[in-house]
Amino acid sequence: MRSTIIAGNWKMYKTLEETRSFLEAFSQRLRSVPRHVGVVVCPPYTSLALAGEMLRGSSVGLGAQDMSEHDEGAYTGEVSWKMLASVGCGYVILGHSERRQYHGESDEQVNRKSTTALDHGLRPILCVGETLEEREAGTTADVVAGQVRGVLRGLSAESMARVVIAYEPVWAIGTGRNATPEQAQEVHALIRSLVAELYDERIAGQLTIQYGGSVKPDNAAGLLGQEDIDGALVGGACLKVDSFVQILETAGKKGELPQ
Ligand code: PEP
Repeated sequence: MRSTIIAGNWKMYKTLEETRSFLEAFSQRLRSVPRHVGVVVCPPYTSLALAGEMLRGSSVGLGAQDMSEHDEGAYTGEVSWKMLASVGCGYVILGHSERRQYHGESDEQVNRKSTTALDHGLRPILCVGETLEEREAGTTADVVAGQVRGVLRGLSAESMARVVIAYEPVWAIGTGRNATPEQAQEVHALIRSLVAELYDERIAGQLTIQYGGSVKPDNAAGLLGQEDIDGALVGGACLKVDSFVQILETAGKKGELPQ
């Protein structure tokens, strides 16, 4: 009923040469990944053009890790949707917690970037998630609901068919400490019911909601087996061909995984 999408966020890793050798090896391994699993790689800006060329004609999608809300102009250091589209990007991660934490990105800004992305044919992967203090204070549901409302504000029902939400508890990113499948499922279900309230049941039912936070080959089955977890945003484990392919293979078995 909804697509399973696994995206690999390379963060600030891999030079051009490392990108080339990774993608050569990765392409050889894709045969073991069922076609119904959506696969996206998100290299740093400097590797996007090369990755776009190497992936042209393949089933692997290309994504950026951020994008300007503006079309063009005097915005030093920024990269526009037009630039991303010109190298073959179909996706863009927006509002990653590292952008929120180190660059002060707000829900309003993420919302404006999402609007720009959607207006120009890019699929945004919108990241939300609570900090450890917020979880321990028992405010996870309020925090995540506030972020979801904020980043989706004003997006049309039609656009929602192209939106992906990634639930990434901040305390689980890059820490090796992942949410239990039950903890993740609880928040995913909450996000889906909020989207049903904001739009309708059909849109909520078709929305791909990824989990992110120390997803590895050995915990992927437990997480992806959950009813409302439709994929993963993978950081550390996507940097090695073996571990990324193992996660993709697990995603291919989603319907058969124990809940
Ligand atoms: C991420 O970068 O979005 C992420 C979830 O990283 P990691 O898998 O390393 O926790």
